[in-house]
Amino acid sequence: MHSHRIAVIPGDGIGVEVCGATRAVLDAVGRRHAIALTYDEFDWSCARYLAEGAMMPANGLDLIRHHDAIFLGAVGGPGVPDHVSLWGLLIPIRRGFQQFVNLRPIRGLDGRQAIDLVVVRENVEGEYSEIGGRLYQGTPAEMAVQESVFTRPGVTRIVDYALDLAERRGGRLTSATKSNGIIHTMPFWDEIVAERVAERPAVTLRSEHIDALCAKLVLDPAQFDVIVASNLFGDILSDLAAAVAGSIGLAPAANIDPTHAYPSMFEPVHGSAPDIAGRGIANPVGAIWTATMMLDHLGHPEASANLMAAIESVFTTTDVRTPDLGGKAGTEDMTRAIIEAL
Ligand code: ATP
Ligand code: MG
Repeated sequence: MHSHRIAVIPGDGIGVEVCGATRAVLDAVGRRHAIALTYDEFDWSCARYLAEGAMMPANGLDLIRHHDAIFLGAVGGPGVPDHVSLWGLLIPIRRGFQQFVNLRPIRGLDGRQAIDLVVVRENVEGEYSEIGGRLYQGTPAEMAVQESVFTRPGVTRIVDYALDLAERRGGRLTSATKSNGIIHTMPFWDEIVAERVAERPAVTLRSEHIDALCAKLVLDPAQFDVIVASNLFGDILSDLAAAVAGSIGLAPAANIDPTHAYPSMFEPVHGSAPDIAGRGIANPVGAIWTATMMLDHLGHPEASANLMAAIESVFTTTDVRTPDLGGKAGTEDMTRAIIEAL
């Protein structure tokens, strides 16, 4: 019996609903594969922020530092600006635990969309920085300055991670750039990508400007396999590709520290969806697919593959679909169908 302690942060809105669904599925997977998962729940959320003035306690990272993984539903909500949940919870965890890879596999589950790719997003530096500020406020010369930070070790490790993945998946890597407009950081990114690719004869590289890449992803996503991108570009590309694949409710994500020095964090791409929260109709597939990534990371590839196969078979052999996919099933129906398929 393998046992793992998971820190669960259900968060707000449908985050809580999809976390419950995921735990039910993981319990079933655990019974089949002799994996004992124990959960500690943390109420870190926008609801907590509204009540106590902080998304999480000041010693939050210390409370979850020794867990084997973190599973997060979604945080966000009416009355709390997005940057509060981002900078008050997600970014401190990503940076504090060196989760420098944000991995987002994207696939059309019902086989109707020809898309099967992985976006490898740099997750701790790049365009999301605290360096900058406002100058000359209240004058006609007012300006805002926002610096991007690209370091050689930071770019090198994300590119190497993407290259490893590309080698395992058939050797095609696309790098997102914008070196024609952003003339310092992007040529630096391109240079490091070229250096690292030169050491990998099994990988062919394609470099695409982010604007053209977005258009091509919409028009013909099948031409892409692994895409490596900076923090901002990766964020945009993965939402775009998830939308091309069907619903944002299907999309999984993982914030990974590949060195295993710290716990990695697993969270579906979607947010708290206040418009449908509390109605029992949230699509749990993004969260459950995310759980397959967690199983992989914890060293259970077989359990992960079985769960993925169960999700796929619900799409290929049943017509159970939540409303975001045009169906009438609720969160519980979808969850039950996946457990039955297991
Ligand atoms: P937040 O403030 O937390 O970012 P949001 O509403 O801005 O929330 P999302 O939660 O990503 O962003 O929702 C975008 C849209 O997609 C909403 O209309 C929502 O209902 C829908 N949606 C998101 N996730 C799901 C899901 N799992 N199942 C069904 N619909 C979803
Ligand atoms: Mg949002």
